[in-house]
Amino acid sequence: MDICKDLIGGQWVGASDHGSFETRDPAHVDAVLATFPSATAADAERAVAAAAEAFPGWAATPAPARGAILFRAAELVDERFEEIATTLTREEGKTLAEARGEVTRARDILRYYAGEGWRRAGEVLPANAPSAMLFSKREPLGVVAVITPWNFPIAIPAWKIAPALAYGNAVVFKPASATPLTALKLVECLQDAGLPAGVLNFVTGSGAAVGETLAASPFVGGLTFTGSHGTGAGIYRKATEHFARVHLEMGGKNPTIILDDAELGLAVKLAVMGGFGLTGQSCTATSRVIVEDGIADRFAAALAEAAAALRVGDGLDEGVQMGPAVSADQLATDLDYIAIGKKDGAELLAGGGRAGAGGHFLQPTVFDHVDAGSRLAQDEIFGPVVGIVRARDLDDAIAKANSVGYGLAASVVTDDLRRALTFVDRIEAGVVKVNEPTTGLALQAPFGGFKLSSANTFKEQGPSAIEFYTRTKTVYVTYG
Ligand code: NDP
Repeated sequence: MDICKDLIGGQWVGASDHGSFETRDPAHVDAVLATFPSATAADAERAVAAAAEAFPGWAATPAPARGAILFRAAELVDERFEEIATTLTREEGKTLAEARGEVTRARDILRYYAGEGWRRAGEVLPANAPSAMLFSKREPLGVVAVITPWNFPIAIPAWKIAPALAYGNAVVFKPASATPLTALKLVECLQDAGLPAGVLNFVTGSGAAVGETLAASPFVGGLTFTGSHGTGAGIYRKATEHFARVHLEMGGKNPTIILDDAELGLAVKLAVMGGFGLTGQSCTATSRVIVEDGIADRFAAALAEAAAALRVGDGLDEGVQMGPAVSADQLATDLDYIAIGKKDGAELLAGGGRAGAGGHFLQPTVFDHVDAGSRLAQDEIFGPVVGIVRARDLDDAIAKANSVGYGLAASVVTDDLRRALTFVDRIEAGVVKVNEPTTGLALQAPFGGFKLSSANTFKEQGPSAIEFYTRTKTVYVTYG
């Protein structure tokens, strides 16, 4: 068991009188992985103060030099690749193959934003007079607070922290309490790469103590959050009270629409990847499959067979295709929704129960004939539970897909270009795919949801990040 520390102002700080909390392996619930300090509101305030003190020096550091530190951090992630991936599987539960994919993503994000140190930082505009210059320059916001969920414990912190640092901000990072050990490894790589003291601070503890303090702090210039809608809404209210810039990415209820002409094997493969990959614990997971009547019976039977064939177990074991739920609470939520589905009259085709002892294992679960307005089809579950909703035609499918509060990701399976592009035009989602699973993102592309899936302020990743992590200063110069 690791006894871990927080990082405040360049100092590693252990648990105070306020104690510590444990993290556990969801595949072996008796195994304690690590303990972390239960930081208090005062600790969070100290971290903000340390970041504010470090900020001017970091902002004045040439951008290529900041980028060089991110490049070095990427190298360190590579050197520790297997250790980090194994930790991720042991802490969050996803399979080792999925964990390796996530660590690769984090490393590549560090490289991408390292390169930003050499890219655009403003714009030159035509001046209105001779011997005059007019230009805009990008400046960092100051202290940026980063609050992240447990389901991508290294990739999401990387895609927030890397651009924040690349553009010259100082960061206070609060990881999810279920997965701080994987997050710590990213912080160690960044710190060991040569970040000056105070530029990156790492504060573990509850959302109520640490998270709310960051949201309420008048010294935080920007706050970026990924997590559930309820938490995000509370943070938004607190942070905008003092006019901090706020970016929120929240839940999803993502549909894959399968049209009559779809190749059955491809349709099933994409539904399995999107619905059961990452144990369904992805914000972009496919939790609704909306199927045109002509193919629905064949698709439902084939999806049920594929779900039943998946091997569930410890993500570190060879051949395991789906890991456990992250926690007892998440498993209980999944089982609650299975009970709700049965009660509401949906037809259980596969799974529906626990899948073994010792860990939070659940069978991949498929329901058919799910009513588009029922809770199974409307609420985010965040587990391996897929509901098949039947549709008369494309119009009916799109109407049902758009009938939820969320609007994060959506996909369609068809070879009919006209119908595919009609779907692209009319679907209400921030990420839209054709013949792909709803999950899986390219780090160089903007990411973010519509409707209740985001604050509808900023996108993140790729070239979009600069919009959130910098502000624009307009400069007029006359020299004639
Ligand atoms: P939560 O909203 O429960 O927690 C997210 C983060 O917020 C955690 O670090 C948590 O801390 C912290 N937090 C909790 N309460 C507060 C508070 N009052 N003030 C400030 N911070 C607080 O989400 P989960 O971690 O359970 O993650 C699952 C959710 O994340 C799902 O809804 C999923 O859809 C969403 N998500 C969205 C993504 C997207 O890009 N749209 C991507 C991935 C996930 P602590 O852990 O200590 O409680």
